Amino acid sequence: FIEIKDVRKSYGTMPVLKGINLSVAAHEVICLIGASGSGKSTLLRCMNGLETINEGQIVLDGDIVTGDGVDLVHLRRRVGMIFQSFNLFPHLTVLENVTLAPVTSNKMSRAAASEEAMAMLKRVGLDARAHYRPDQLSGGQQQRVAIVRAMLMHPSVLLMDEITSALDPALVREVLDLVRELARSGMTILMATHEMAFAREVSSRVCFLHQGILVEQGTPEQIFGSPQMNETQEFLRAQI
Ligand code: ATP
Ligand code: MG
Repeated sequence: FIEIKDVRKSYGTMPVLKGINLSVAAHEVICLIGASGSGKSTLLRCMNGLETINEGQIVLDGDIVTGDGVDLVHLRRRVGMIFQSFNLFPHLTVLENVTLAPVTSNKMSRAAASEEAMAMLKRVGLDARAHYRPDQLSGGQQQRVAIVRAMLMHPSVLLMDEITSALDPALVREVLDLVRELARSGMTILMATHEMAFAREVSSRVCFLHQGILVEQGTPEQIFGSPQMNETQEFLRAQI
């Protein structure tokens, strides 16, 4: 349901994505792994229009979402993205943060958005924090709010870019627990991560990027258990 077809992207003269091909089926959880600079963030950013691509195509549910004339507002309603830095609005409460987009985009009435937001905050254990501001929350709580905010738009797919790497180790678990729950509930997720143990546990497929090339992909058992390519083997050896 997502087709990434021969996507190429350069910054200036430096190629960063060198012809990426990847198909994602609904309900898949795909982890992108690879060394720093291999192109993981760039690929995710191309998927929700934060970067333009030089060649190739990305197709979402039959619609080409790259190139000229793409409706970015519409695209970002369908493709939710969560970043390493939580990017919450500091002057808004938790409830205001998560309901802002659905209400201003006329997707939902304020009452309906608030009701759904409260239910979702409850699900992630943050309903008592609905009227707090982000700086009154821990990093893990802020990141869970960011995830709720993305989910409230009912995206077709969630992109996550190193969403735990700004967190204290003690707070990583609560965020990963939420991702695991979303994965179980059938959400389609593409995540770039350095959390190899989590990638192994949660993903249906692991993709290894090396210098802008998707060198190898497979089930977690295949990639972590018996990687075929030298680059993958070397990368994984260095992770221990
Ligand atoms: P990390 O694991 O460190 O997050 P990554 O796999 O996400 O790395 P990218 O952020 O996609 O890697 O970067 C890929 C390459 O593109 C790097 O060499 C980086 O320096 C370069 N790059 C990324 N963004 C820009 C930019 N806005 N302008 C120029 N070069 C960039
Ligand atoms: Mg990155």
